[in-house]
Amino acid sequence: MNGIVHLLDYGYNMADYSIFIAGANQGQRVKIPVMGCYIDHPEAKIVVDTGVSDPKAPGAVDCQHVHTEKQTPLEQLKKLGVKPEEIKYLVITHLHYDHAGAMNLFPNAKVIVRREELKEAYVPMAKDDINYYRPDFDRKDVNYDLIPNGLDIELADGITVLSVPGHTVGTQCVVIKTSEGPVIYAADSVYWYKNWEENKLPGILYSAEKFDMSIAKMKAIRGGILIPGHEPTLDLNRVYGK
Ligand SMILES: [Zn+2]
Repeated sequence: MNGIVHLLDYGYNMADYSIFIAGANQGQRVKIPVMGCYIDHPEAKIVVDTGVSDPKAPGAVDCQHVHTEKQTPLEQLKKLGVKPEEIKYLVITHLHYDHAGAMNLFPNAKVIVRREELKEAYVPMAKDDINYYRPDFDRKDVNYDLIPNGLDIELADGITVLSVPGHTVGTQCVVIKTSEGPVIYAADSVYWYKNWEENKLPGILYSAEKFDMSIAKMKAIRGGILIPGHEPTLDLNRVYGK
């Protein structure tokens, strides 16, 4: 079965270039979108990532995050005529502050997160890691469905969540069968087209080896249409599979 993929606009960051391409242009800020997506599918309505909810989160301050009232998950879904209670699954690609800010918004959603990612968020390898923000994930009102790393799961016919660690220990991406071909919603497993096309490592990395293996896994998807996580040139109004 085919799905339709709509991008959800959650504002932007002004972040250091070297976050995206390791070692390059340090000190140069670049404007990058913060986003998620909504997958319309006959079997399930699915949201991937929720953006930033607290602009005072240290990571958000550091990356000069900005979003308007309209650039929130509920407002973006409202534009598409979707109500929060209709969402069956919320996939959080990883628990960084700019992806996992509002996991409690969907009362009937199972929240798909990697078990290793949640552990890492509580006790990050780097003690001063400002990308994990405890008020985002340490909550009783989130119905977690914790999946072990390494497992790929099918949420609905033609929608698969792939284990693609590297950027973080438990990063996952979503592959959606559409009328245009398989769409890879990569989130931070691929920040930019440049990382993908020129095999460039990003500056924020849990494991370079795992990152490369995950890229290879995604590149093996025949005819895959990539949606990178923070690509500055991406057209957020483009609908995939319509
Ligand atoms: Zn991230």
